[in-house]
Amino acid sequence: MRTVDAYAATSATDPLVKTTIERRDVGPKDVLIEIAYAGICHSDIHTVRGEWGDIAYPQVVGHEIVGVVAEVGADVTRHAVGDRVGVGCMVNSCRECENCLAGEENYCLEGNVQTYAGVDRDGTITQGGYSTHVVVDEDFVLRVPEAIPYEAAAPLLCAGITTYSPLHHWEAGPGKRVAVVGMGGLGHMAVKIAVAMGAEVTVLSQTTSKQEDSLRFGATAHRATKDPQTFEDLKDTFDLIVNTVSAPLDLDAYLRLLRRNGTMVNVGAPAEPLPITVFTLFGARRSFAGSGIGGIRETQEMLDFCAERGIAPEVELIDAAQVNEAYERVLSSDVRYRFVIDAATI
Ligand code: NAP
Ligand code: ZN
Ligand code: ZN
Repeated sequence: MRTVDAYAATSATDPLVKTTIERRDVGPKDVLIEIAYAGICHSDIHTVRGEWGDIAYPQVVGHEIVGVVAEVGADVTRHAVGDRVGVGCMVNSCRECENCLAGEENYCLEGNVQTYAGVDRDGTITQGGYSTHVVVDEDFVLRVPEAIPYEAAAPLLCAGITTYSPLHHWEAGPGKRVAVVGMGGLGHMAVKIAVAMGAEVTVLSQTTSKQEDSLRFGATAHRATKDPQTFEDLKDTFDLIVNTVSAPLDLDAYLRLLRRNGTMVNVGAPAEPLPITVFTLFGARRSFAGSGIGGIRETQEMLDFCAERGIAPEVELIDAAQVNEAYERVLSSDVRYRFVIDAATI
């Protein structure tokens, strides 16, 4: 075991505080990563505040991790000391079920082992990336291409793959009209990736305050959802809507914006069940779907795609001591567009 510095939540209501945690010894298939940067995902906030259910404290969160390999186990073949690597939302899975065998470990039938607040194989609770080091099985460690700016790469490990996967699955591309609802960490990546895939992209944001940014990211339109006219003007328009909003929405109002055969895919994860009127679906053979992160193979594909296409998240780099302030700004949609903790300040 090694003791490392970290920032942890000690209850659902108290601010995160600096502490130390134990990392396991480097096993034969493990990689020790010296963390350089850790992104702040809204899921971190849902989790530490108990919004998705009770968790055990203290809990270190963070599942957008990049750093450098500092040590490898005897049987490691995929990574070497000095490599720039990343870790996303999961650190293991059963590897045997049909979904794991299909390369979609995110949908492991046994449940994948989450990077934080999950139960590891040894029965301990996993601790995430707001920390100086992490030990992870090499199969769940990604290569981070040097072409991606180092301090901006971390958010790709969750926000990037969570939006790339549905855009890829539902074939965003030339001739497709895509709407992205909510332009925060996930949303701004959805816009950049859908544009790079060749789709015509509209941002549906609460107000027009982010309009210039939407256009800069390549969207052709930005509409305010606080304005009821938006829902009149855009009826029966989109082939695909990606909803990244962390709070409950009137789904019917958005479903009506789908044209015939269109799909709305929810990646935003409010805890509450959300009602849908089936007649809204009948009206144009519309579909409502969900999507959870992405598999390891697809995550590598997304990293390579972003490197080739020059796509990177827009980040605000912060010191670890600013994490509680950053949480408040995420909660008030005041983030442009992802906070990233400089792990050297932990
Ligand atoms: P975020 O940075 O806070 O972005 C969410 C955006 O939603 C905000 O920037 C805001 O955009 C909009 N929004 C927030 N509150 C709203 C409200 N009450 N009404 C309407 N719009 C609102 O969060 P994130 O990190 O991108 O995460 C978004 C959600 O995805 C979270 O629930 C997170 O847990 C979930 N998530 C899911 C997966 C998955 O695998 N499915 C993975 C990662 C995260 P505007 O200012 O543009 O309106
Ligand atoms: Zn996340
Ligand atoms: Zn499995």
